[in-house]
Amino acid sequence: TVEPTHLSKPEQLRAWDNAHVWHPFTAMQAYEQEQAPIITSAEGFELIDFEGNRYLDGISSLWCNVHGHRVPEIDAAIKAQVDRVSHSTLLGLSSEPSIELARRLVERAPAGLTRVFYSDSGATAVEAALKMAFQYHRQKGNKPEQRDLFCTVGNAYHGDTIGSVSVGSMELFHRVYGPLLFRTLSCPSPQTLRRPVGFTAEGYREFCFAEVERIVAENASRLAAFIIEPLVQGAAGILVHPPGYLRHVREVTRRHGVPLIADEVAVGFGRTGTLFACEQEDVSPDLMCLAKGLTGGYLPVAATLATDEIYSAFLGDPSEGRTFFHGHTFTGNPLGCAAGLASLELFERNKVLQNVASNSLKLRERLSVLDSHPHVAQIRQKGIMVGVELVRDRETLTSFPSERRTGHQVTLAARRRGVIVRPLGDVAVLMPAPAMPGELIDRLCDVFLESIDEAT
Ligand code: PLP
Repeated sequence: TVEPTHLSKPEQLRAWDNAHVWHPFTAMQAYEQEQAPIITSAEGFELIDFEGNRYLDGISSLWCNVHGHRVPEIDAAIKAQVDRVSHSTLLGLSSEPSIELARRLVERAPAGLTRVFYSDSGATAVEAALKMAFQYHRQKGNKPEQRDLFCTVGNAYHGDTIGSVSVGSMELFHRVYGPLLFRTLSCPSPQTLRRPVGFTAEGYREFCFAEVERIVAENASRLAAFIIEPLVQGAAGILVHPPGYLRHVREVTRRHGVPLIADEVAVGFGRTGTLFACEQEDVSPDLMCLAKGLTGGYLPVAATLATDEIYSAFLGDPSEGRTFFHGHTFTGNPLGCAAGLASLELFERNKVLQNVASNSLKLRERLSVLDSHPHVAQIRQKGIMVGVELVRDRETLTSFPSERRTGHQVTLAARRRGVIVRPLGDVAVLMPAPAMPGELIDRLCDVFLESIDEAT
């Protein structure tokens, strides 16, 4: 243990951080040199570090914060719940906030989703959906032994547990775990920027739509489910799907009797302009995964929503073994559910979706100067999700050398200017909170543009 008593409090914390904390998705050797801020408090949309420096939260604390930090209504709801009970199990018992939140989610969710299964993160919401789909077929008796495959879309990211990694297809994150994963079919990601040679952009889009039809039709009797990030593949670099792609996947899967899992973990709760992204293509999935913004970004509560059709396959006398033997200690935690209820109320009261609409226009206008930037290959945006792909040469799409860590340099340049962002490889990302006021979006854009110039 490091006991550097001669150090000031911030220096001491930094030394202990470097000695003991293993940060997620973080290149630790480089991290130790970087003097990352140690956050001690927050106000509105700013995070404040130990030295009192303020940082605008440009990535909503990893895509989850909705209404800002220390929101009086959410703080009060959590405090009131602490005065009643902080945690009691949902295994065979219930709690008031978990019931109320389930009712509100079902009211707002796409038609047909009537059951809410709680967990605690995006990955666990996906894991539950995969196991539900798999078990559903076994209990429906329709050639169950053959429903042992999932279908995904290339570049997908659905979380870090072994099941969610199995249906993911991001080489960088997933390659090393290959031997541990179950086999998954993959439809080509309908992205035209780096399409295979010989295709026009339109021709490649058509090919991708046709591949969904072919792969699902050829494997329908073996597919347990098709999983998709609706409208936008987030972690792959804010890859926006062509209009109609989600609806096409729904139409094909429905025609072939394959359940559809919509992973709304990143896109849910307003980020694409509607409360849920599925609404924009009038899609009702069979299972829907929610996390991140579900509690306004306050606490780890997630949910997997299911239709009556799926749920009813798990009913029967206990001796029949149809129970879903799955769940976590903190499943449906009452503090998190109370925060979720307060957050949903604020969506209405503060007209958050209207704010998202005006901020997405503002982002589009402010970032349009990058259209002619020599090191910008593409600006991708859906609602308030933004990815700017940085390249050494925009004509040939040649990447910067990986050791240059250009995306990371944008992060460091922005941090020096009092803004927190986090890249996805060489894609610089903005993910402001849905309720962020327009003047802060302007400040975010000012710093983002300067930081891209400095890093490239
Ligand atoms: N699914 C999607 C679409 C995501 O973007 C993420 C995280 O970014 C996850 C699942 C995993 O969520 P969590 O990090 O809460 O496990």
